[in-house]
Amino acid sequence: MDGPDTFEALDETWSRALCIVAHPDDMEFGAAAAVARWTGQGKWVGYTMVTSGEAGIDGVAPDQCRVVREAEQVESARIVGVDTVDFLGLPDGILEYGVALRRVLAAEIRRHRPDIVITNNWRDTWGGANLNQADHIAVGKATLDAVRDAGNRWVFPEQLTDGTEPWGGVRQVWGAGSPVSAHAVDTTDTFDAGVESLKAHAAYIDGLGWENWDPREFLEGMARAVGSRIGVAFAAPFEVIPMGWGD
Ligand SMILES: [Zn+2]
Repeated sequence: MDGPDTFEALDETWSRALCIVAHPDDMEFGAAAAVARWTGQGKWVGYTMVTSGEAGIDGVAPDQCRVVREAEQVESARIVGVDTVDFLGLPDGILEYGVALRRVLAAEIRRHRPDIVITNNWRDTWGGANLNQADHIAVGKATLDAVRDAGNRWVFPEQLTDGTEPWGGVRQVWGAGSPVSAHAVDTTDTFDAGVESLKAHAAYIDGLGWENWDPREFLEGMARAVGSRIGVAFAAPFEVIPMGWGD
């Protein structure tokens, strides 16, 4: 991979992280082993799926696909110690960055009150020539804004009922797998859980029709390239955006 010769360590002095991604499987393509590490440390991690990935399997109609993919995501989350998986039900494949998306994400952040918010890479590519997917970009960018929105009581004030308060406590937003990642975390001890978590998306992986594609081999290739630069077997890279002022 391209990128820096080494990586800084991620801050692990937090207790709650909310992962906001477009699709079931987005966390499992590289970040799930890191989640297993953190839940193993006793931290709370929750997942928010903006869509149910219902447009993700060519041979399966969305209404049927949604049920399968939600079940696979709940299981893959369970494997890495995540019990809270919210499905927001927005339309897979055609998400739009904008106020409507920021509104639903701000509501999630206000509800779960995380210290750290993790989302998928929102950059145009993954570092090579291949383009990132439109939903990932929309969700990542809307997440960055929604973190600020959540802390402002005059933005989406209709959400502040029944005891819901603004939440300005998010310290950083992390973009998993970003091509401009400067931080990484050692995932050697929890790597196997990450592999099992990806394998839980069996119907989806089968539907991709990639011949002889091996989840372990795929995850190893990425994790080894990062790990070797910080002196461990496996690691996961993240782009870190500080959310305070003056950082
Ligand atoms: Zn995705």
